[in-house]
Amino acid sequence: MGISANAQNEPFNVILQRINNDLQTFVKDKPLAEEVGKHFKNLNADGSWADINYADVQYDPLKRIKDMATAYIRPSNKLYNDSELHAAIVRSLQNWLDKNPKNKNWWYNDIFYPQAIGQTLILMRNAKTGLPATLENALIKRIIRKLKTGDGANTSDEALHYLYRACLTQNKATLDSAAKYLFEPIAITDGKEGVQVDGSYYQHGKQQAIASYGRVFAGNSINAAFYLRGTQYALPKDQLAILVNYLKNTFLKTIRGSFYDFNVRGRGISRKDSLSSGLGGMVNKIKLFDPENAAYWNASTLRTSGKKPASYGVVAAHNQYWKSGYTLHLRPAYTFSVQTASTRTLRTERGNNENILGKFLPDGATNIQRSGSEYANLMPVWEWDKIPGTTSRDYPDDNGATVLKEWGIPGTTKFVGGVSDGIYGVSCYDLNYDSVQAKKAWFFFDQEVVCLGAGIRSDSKENITTTINQAWSRGDIISSNGMQAKGDSEVWALHDSIGYIFPQGGNLEISNNPQTGNWYRINHFQRKTEIKHNVFKVWLNHGAAPQNAGYQYIVLPGTSINALKKYNRSMIQVLKNTEEIQAVKHVGLNMLQAVFYKAGTLSVNGLFLHVDQACTVYIKDMNAKSPVLYIADPAQEHATVHVEIKLPGLSKAKSMDCNLPDGAFAGATASFKIKE
Ligand code: CA
Repeated sequence: MGISANAQNEPFNVILQRINNDLQTFVKDKPLAEEVGKHFKNLNADGSWADINYADVQYDPLKRIKDMATAYIRPSNKLYNDSELHAAIVRSLQNWLDKNPKNKNWWYNDIFYPQAIGQTLILMRNAKTGLPATLENALIKRIIRKLKTGDGANTSDEALHYLYRACLTQNKATLDSAAKYLFEPIAITDGKEGVQVDGSYYQHGKQQAIASYGRVFAGNSINAAFYLRGTQYALPKDQLAILVNYLKNTFLKTIRGSFYDFNVRGRGISRKDSLSSGLGGMVNKIKLFDPENAAYWNASTLRTSGKKPASYGVVAAHNQYWKSGYTLHLRPAYTFSVQTASTRTLRTERGNNENILGKFLPDGATNIQRSGSEYANLMPVWEWDKIPGTTSRDYPDDNGATVLKEWGIPGTTKFVGGVSDGIYGVSCYDLNYDSVQAKKAWFFFDQEVVCLGAGIRSDSKENITTTINQAWSRGDIISSNGMQAKGDSEVWALHDSIGYIFPQGGNLEISNNPQTGNWYRINHFQRKTEIKHNVFKVWLNHGAAPQNAGYQYIVLPGTSINALKKYNRSMIQVLKNTEEIQAVKHVGLNMLQAVFYKAGTLSVNGLFLHVDQACTVYIKDMNAKSPVLYIADPAQEHATVHVEIKLPGLSKAKSMDCNLPDGAFAGATASFKIKE
């Protein structure tokens, strides 16, 4: 009997069995039996546990009950078909039914409880002795909720327990709505919560949530498509394309090795192990409903599970997510991303007392990964006003980094974004926050990323610092003489295969000391246990009340001491680093990247570039006969930029009106071939 033929007529059992198998994918019988053995022996006669506060129930006791059900139904488990265990499952479920616990946080009531109960009931459908029908029916009734539609990841989370209930009751109407709402979030929106036109993801307003709520969206969508594949409820082709695009071009790109970019986890950055992607079998499931891209999914599975190196299958890419203020630059050797905020978006949220100290996370934070684990679980000991990449006040303690208002605060400036051809690009951030102003820009190439800052001002009493990195200390720090010295001659440093060059020196400080902290100070759901880790930290000190300070540094991820010494410094020419124009020419790649914070002219070494509006510009093949001009308006305001340009390969100056994308695509890059 073919599954698909059967599924056409009677999808309920097929789906139910898929869910049942899925729930057992990663079960290890021995530790499960030990865990369950402990819990069911401690269960009170009335079906409660003494250590659970039923007035404030979170994951337990439903997780314990589900574990008991899992052990009970598995022939490979020591507790398989154990009659005492069966009695304990019945008692504990009856107790839940009678007590009807509620949590202050709606998420437990409307998502976790119904999901966990639904899963337990589905597992018990595979039991030799099932649950008493009256108990099962009462629990099925208990998990009925009204769906909050149009709520992105939350909607699909709620629709998942609809799916469980539909299979348990074999109710077509319930399955119809489960399928509808499971797939509802798989759509492209502009400005509302969900997948954006640039491929990023919003939740809680216009806030980048690529691997926080976007992770829930991806996981739920994959599971739904996996459960419903081959039935009349299968994910429609157009939505499959949206999901596959999100996974391939956004979500999976934010995972280096098996670790997330810290810029995409939202307030979850403050949770232990939150950078571990833990994708498990998720990517493997996609193959079953998207066999076309099987080679890609296989490579992703091998890379994210750590079975292959972090570089495995990584293709050079540069994504400018102009809706979210997020830039992601990938090379086989490294990931380098930047997160910023603007008046169009919300700053990284604090919520439910999570991410308490993340005040500066959206101020140009740069995530630099090689192995992937450079920042994993380092957050409890981070100095939170020295987030990599950011320019901020250096407070005497981390209280200065406290986020004072929950659920996201709008950014303060509009000139935030960048230009990209999909492989190279430049990003900029007009910083004006916490009494600090700066013009920050990042120029992305192959071997290196050039970071420039200009117009750094503050009237606060603290020193203003730009942090280059704050990561796990691993191995020696090798540096040029006088790394600590003030001055204007080049200094460099190498740590954990990442090189840092400061072409003009600067007031550099570097530390490689133990730092202490705990998870609780950044997230009140976490432990207070004191933690001590060795941290590599390097920053530039601009001093107190800088009036027009700046910085230049080049990051070379994936280098060695020999490569760094031999690295040809003349490849990078910083043409301008002022608060009006920041421009870098890469001689080897034959490209120019520039940020114009206002209308202006860049005229240097026979190169002439004039723009009549603020914009970001990138010229590829600049010395060739037919260079390509890429241009974008980070402020997302102008329909046209008039450009006058004189390049070495062109016999005369060119003048052109560049029409920029508008509507939902305002801020995206336009390209123009320049011909004689
Ligand atoms: Ca500090």
